[in-house]
Amino acid sequence: MTIRSNPALDSLFLNGSLISQSTYHQAMNAALQVISERYANLERPFSGIKVEELTDRMAGLNVCPEAGRDLETSLAEVGRLIAAHSVAVHHPACAAHLHCPPLIASLAAEAVISAMNQSMDSWDQSPAATLLETQMIEWLCDLFQYSGQAEGVFTSGGTQSNLMGLLLARNHFVATRLDWDIQQHGLPPQMKDLRILCSADAHFTVQQSASLLGLGRNAVVPIKTDAAHRMSVDDLDRQLTRLQEQDLLPFALVGTAGTTDFGSIDPLPQLAERAAEQDMWFHVDAAYGGALALSQHHRHRLAGIQQADSISVDFHKLFYQPISCGAFLVKEGARFEAIRLNADYLNPEEDEEEGTPNLVGKSIQTTRRFDALKLFLSLQHLGRARFAQMIEGTLQTATEAARLIAADPQLEAINPSPELNAVVFRYRPQSPHENLSYEAWRDQLNQDIRQILLSEGKAVVARTKVEGASSLKLTLLNPRTTLDDVQAILEEVKQTGKRLEQTKGEGVQHVRYVGTASHYAELS
Ligand SMILES: *Cc1c(COP(=O)(O)O)cnc(C)c1O
Repeated sequence: MTIRSNPALDSLFLNGSLISQSTYHQAMNAALQVISERYANLERPFSGIKVEELTDRMAGLNVCPEAGRDLETSLAEVGRLIAAHSVAVHHPACAAHLHCPPLIASLAAEAVISAMNQSMDSWDQSPAATLLETQMIEWLCDLFQYSGQAEGVFTSGGTQSNLMGLLLARNHFVATRLDWDIQQHGLPPQMKDLRILCSADAHFTVQQSASLLGLGRNAVVPIKTDAAHRMSVDDLDRQLTRLQEQDLLPFALVGTAGTTDFGSIDPLPQLAERAAEQDMWFHVDAAYGGALALSQHHRHRLAGIQQADSISVDFHKLFYQPISCGAFLVKEGARFEAIRLNADYLNPEEDEEEGTPNLVGKSIQTTRRFDALKLFLSLQHLGRARFAQMIEGTLQTATEAARLIAADPQLEAINPSPELNAVVFRYRPQSPHENLSYEAWRDQLNQDIRQILLSEGKAVVARTKVEGASSLKLTLLNPRTTLDDVQAILEEVKQTGKRLEQTKGEGVQHVRYVGTASHYAELS
């Protein structure tokens, strides 16, 4: 069958015709142009525009015009309105979250992924892609030292991977211990007794999953953490005894390998031991810290992860992939049975008998992107060794940054030896406030510093609370960020703190939530 040319549509869809090919090149070049212009001479990580002003400007968009117009014009508008007021993830002062600059190799892969538009749910929508994803999953299973029984799937990220871990854990427990078919009958009568254990510093998606799984957030038992923000095994033992005394049913233990705030890694071998003793599903949330497995220097810190029943790992964090990209791995692949349903049009039982792989059975998504390709291409381009070096470099920068902070009398280091990339600290008030306690004054200053830096576009710094006290956080994921860059951010923090102290923080109410540089200039 030959593809006939259709002049009216050839310039809208990619195909073999000359007009289609040249339109595609033009469109891609115009998109590249928007990005290049945005990146050229970028001084600040954010324009600092106010919410109200941007809302007003965006309100002028007609999102669905009656008649279309040329793509270049619209792309130029995207440049002026969207790109100009997006945070620049590659800028060294964009250092708030686990939000990475993407590798160029992965951006090239994205172009291929979207143009080919393979859908990972069935073999007939993604033949080679299905096999490449499967190979990537095998490589990941090896990386975490799983045995040959392990299987997995690419996901949209840690949220979905954690939900899948707890979903499999719940279904497995209910089937094997309560003899209940949850896929057919819904939640069992004992559901109110089910419990999930995780550290108090675990990611909020553990609670979110508990609520989505019909168990409720109260099903999550938070375990205390030690001074280094790792799960306390003593407290875990105490809680397990208490649950047993109360005849409750702890079915899942979640260990975190790299907490969002401190990068701390729970004592995985001890957790694995407790999980085995109590017949609990052991899920390791390595969304962030999983990348350590690439590094020969750091992988020992993940020891014990190979005993996990399931693992979450994200690639849109320390693996430098564009959002979204993650994976969920299961030690015994057969456990996927607990969520599998057969759809006659996607994964009929005949296919399975013939050995045709349809990945839909391993995912809670149906239509799914071929994200494995971008990780593949990035690994091909950099190679493991260079990838590892890059990650190690960021950990080194974080360690040195914490040292700088600890040595600075105007700052207070909360984690003087960071586990991963997160450096948590506070600005110290240099003089007291007449009406506020030291702590309240410090809280106010630190909150305002962050807000002002954002509203001036000078730095995107995160906020968090440590034992109730407002703190600032730098997440130094960007391999291009140097210690000088960190020093510059810290200078801004200190100068802003000083300016605020001089005005006693008065009248800063406006800036506190939606403030702007000009507001602040008026005040000071
Ligand atoms: C980022 C993160 C998550 C959530 O993952 P998403 O990819 O944002 O869905 C879960 N757990 C940890 C430890 C994380 O760092």
